[in-house]
Amino acid sequence: MPESPVPCVACGGGLAPELDRVFDTRFGIDADFAIARCRECGLEQTVPRPSAATLEAYYSAHYNFGGESGTAYTGLRARFLESGAYRAWLALDGDISFHTRLGHGRLIDIGCNEGRGLALYARSGFTTVEGLETNAVAAAAARRRGFTVHGQALEAFRPNAPYDVAVLSNVLEHALDPHEMLCQVRAILKPGGEVWISCPNAASWLRTLFGRRWINWHVPFHIVHFTEASLGRALAAGGFEPVARAQATPALWVAHSVLAALTARRGRPTAWLRRPLAVMALMALARGLLFPLLWLGNRLGHGDCLLRVARRV
Ligand SMILES: [Zn+2]
Repeated sequence: MPESPVPCVACGGGLAPELDRVFDTRFGIDADFAIARCRECGLEQTVPRPSAATLEAYYSAHYNFGGESGTAYTGLRARFLESGAYRAWLALDGDISFHTRLGHGRLIDIGCNEGRGLALYARSGFTTVEGLETNAVAAAAARRRGFTVHGQALEAFRPNAPYDVAVLSNVLEHALDPHEMLCQVRAILKPGGEVWISCPNAASWLRTLFGRRWINWHVPFHIVHFTEASLGRALAAGGFEPVARAQATPALWVAHSVLAALTARRGRPTAWLRRPLAVMALMALARGLLFPLLWLGNRLGHGDCLLRVARRV
């Protein structure tokens, strides 16, 4: 694998090969990618790095919100999310979207999709809950739920009033320039406002176990692959100080990695990832049988998901 000609997205350092022949294990994009590591700061990143235009084309071809609503499945899901059972599950499995974290004032969910999280944030003590979503179909679905959802890209977004909390739930690793994204988030926060971040952990034991098939490489959509250390550096460089950190290993992510490892083929969509019964059965197995491993992984810093709360300095 040749050395990447692209410099590190964080520090401009040279990139050294780490893992070659990594492919899209979800949608079936027929291309090879690789993971490279910065020789200077150690941050891992996807190469070749797609241009903004290429990435946009990938999103519109593969990542579009389906617009499903009003079906028995979506009705059941909505009832589950509002139930005590969902809160109990999050307490057990890890709350990677901060659905049970309390706060006050104004919250914005950046990349809110169809707004499933907005209803939950509205119950967590906030007086104002808004979303930011560039996918017009998803944004319209969230507005039908009664929420204010802004359709601009973050870089063009100028809110009328700053926010107390900005949520980046599995969003930052998608950014072509994470530093710029954190600066933009900082600009829409009040002084002392908080960013709540979750993203995959590149130091996860599941990454070691599944190698190229780890579901959270998610090439080419995940541009950077953070660890505790690199995420901490990114936040400090963006003007944030640490408040809280944790790790989680969602059973859903374990199930997805297992299904991708067993069934993903380059160039073919992985149909097993969209079979709810298979996914739920594997989730139950992962949670029921692997719980000591999942717990230990999180405690030792090798959980699959990083969770951070940081305050605008
Ligand atoms: Zn670097």
